[in-house]
Amino acid sequence: LKNIYFRYPDSSKYVLENISLDIPKNKSIAIIGPSGSGKSTLLNIFLGFIKPTKGTIEADQIQVLDYIREWQKIIGFVPQDIFLIDDSIKSNIAYGINESDIDELRVWKALELAQLDVFVKDLPDGLDTNVGERGVRISGGQLQRIGIARALFNDPDILVFDEATSSLDNETEMEITKSIENISIEEGVLSYSI
Ligand code: ADP
Ligand code: MG
Repeated sequence: LKNIYFRYPDSSKYVLENISLDIPKNKSIAIIGPSGSGKSTLLNIFLGFIKPTKGTIEADQIQVLDYIREWQKIIGFVPQDIFLIDDSIKSNIAYGINESDIDELRVWKALELAQLDVFVKDLPDGLDTNVGERGVRISGGQLQRIGIARALFNDPDILVFDEATSSLDNETEMEITKSIENISIEEGVLSYSI
């Protein structure tokens, strides 16, 4: 990210001012800062959901904001609040794909990486179990793991979390953090404060 500035259209105040950072390939980085400091805004810019007022994002030498659709295809995003549809676990992982077109092996792979495969194997109808409003009760940690499996289903090159564990108790947060570390190819967390 190079010299990113951002202000919301209805506001004169800049939320982000001259943010530059390098994210090395195969590394984990954490953006740290108090509530309201602009972490989600920065992620939404990175994800191409909103355009920076000024500044660029480059991957290798490519201006990714000129290729938003392609860029988004290689990113998996785990939002702060995971939204479940009133449907099977399979459809919740392979989000937006017709039930009959879903590659179940890929769903299992994503569940395994998110460490949810044992839980799903024990459900009465396995992958076809309804986990929506009218389905089985799931815990906060399991909900986060569904969000992670959903993000991993498309085999992304980049995985982005927006406070993926903030709503969880400490123990569950540690377990999820461990799972996330296992997913990444290389260890090592760099942190940036904003
Ligand atoms: P964080 O994720 O670090 O808590 P945010 O990026 O959500 O911070 O918010 C940064 C600032 O931008 C806050 O002052 C917030 O009130 C403001 N903000 C967030 N979303 C909007 C929006 N859609 N319109 C106007 N202001 C917003
Ligand atoms: Mg936020």
